[in-house]
Amino acid sequence: MVHLERTALSAIRRAAVYVNTGKKPLSEIVEEQQPDIALTAAFYDPGAWRPVCPVKADGEILFADREYNYWAVAWDSGADAAEVLVPPGGACGRANYVANCLLVRQGTPQPKLYYNADVAGRRGRVAVGLTDTEWITYGASDGSGDACTPEACRDYMARQGCRFAVMMDGGRKVNLYVRAAGVMMEGKDPSQTLILLWLRDDGNKEEKPVSDQTHVVLDAGHDAGNLANKSPDGTYFEHEFALDMAKRIRDHLERCGVAVTETRPDGSAVSLAQRCSVANGIVGLDLFVSLHSNAAGGSGWSSARGWSAYIYGAGGAREQAAQAILTRVRETGTAVRSAPIVYDPALYVLKHTAAPAVLIEHAFHTNAEDAANLKDGSWRASVAEAEARGITDHLGVAWVPETSQETPGPDSAPTEAEQAVAWITEQGIMQGNEAGDLMLDAPLTRRQYAVMEYRKHLLGLQ
Ligand SMILES: [Zn+2]
Repeated sequence: MVHLERTALSAIRRAAVYVNTGKKPLSEIVEEQQPDIALTAAFYDPGAWRPVCPVKADGEILFADREYNYWAVAWDSGADAAEVLVPPGGACGRANYVANCLLVRQGTPQPKLYYNADVAGRRGRVAVGLTDTEWITYGASDGSGDACTPEACRDYMARQGCRFAVMMDGGRKVNLYVRAAGVMMEGKDPSQTLILLWLRDDGNKEEKPVSDQTHVVLDAGHDAGNLANKSPDGTYFEHEFALDMAKRIRDHLERCGVAVTETRPDGSAVSLAQRCSVANGIVGLDLFVSLHSNAAGGSGWSSARGWSAYIYGAGGAREQAAQAILTRVRETGTAVRSAPIVYDPALYVLKHTAAPAVLIEHAFHTNAEDAANLKDGSWRASVAEAEARGITDHLGVAWVPETSQETPGPDSAPTEAEQAVAWITEQGIMQGNEAGDLMLDAPLTRRQYAVMEYRKHLLGLQ
């Protein structure tokens, strides 16, 4: 698994370097220190059980390099975290620092990374990044598809908008805990040093909505003004479709009592990282659904068509969700791909959201028939309802039908016609046929009219 946590610097109450003299596993340190975030810090020598990169904790230099300058994440309180150059000998005005393999500086991915060969290759990784306002914690567990090379880790952190980023120790020592997200990655080996963060009670920890309600994030794909994803004839734009579908599905889900958060609620531009950050910021999020239309071929029309759903990999809640949605979509009779559920661990939003995630490719906007559907309001309405139903099926939420205008609910006042029918039958002026059917929409003959007038006369009503 991979986890990215963005923490506002202003939300950090205290940050500390924890020296793990007792070689304790992460869970024990968390239990004892009660941090909000804990992560592996410096490289260390497993034989000597000491750091091999410059580290300073609470004013005490734990390790200093005699020859080289190192870039470090440094701080006094934590809220003031910034990059510093630690000179040979380790003298630095800050109370704490952790230096390690520099990945990004001044927003620029470093062209060459400096690390020992034993750290190379695809491994689990931990990294810390800083933006002007955020502390970014990254961890990817070992032996998973998310394990990566230091260079891939660098590129990933650069894409998160880090002004500065440092890779920490990893491999068997990927130890990462994020309380708010329920993340506990415990490496096979303990970490010799860790960074612990405690957040303010009124900090972003508290801003995260804790959902007792079933909660779904709807992600309208692409940004407003994106002109690249369109039909070959330029009459359809994917960003507009995705936003419209998000609104339609949202209305259905909210009617059924599901809390809905949209990553792109309006005509704006939102990065992929921000979309995931919205989802990862919701504690107990049940499902993330990204809405798109598909494309194939070059710039012209192509024959590929049909609905499909993409998930990170087989199994689990994500596959159940995709299947439930697919079942309802099939009922609408819309064209579905022959292999409608696709496993794709490379899709960004599937990879970087902690909650089960499904990305729907509704149809191909590069196929003439599909594009006509994608533009059609009634097709959108029927597919959006089917998808909302699939989502509620999966989440075990009862479906609340839409109240139509023809059948007013029990609370609405009777119409004048209904009042008139009630009165005229009570008086016995109109009685219906032998079966008691009033045949309200059938034409009235002159004979029937005469009978009704006669009854009114007998009743003294006229
Ligand atoms: Zn798309």
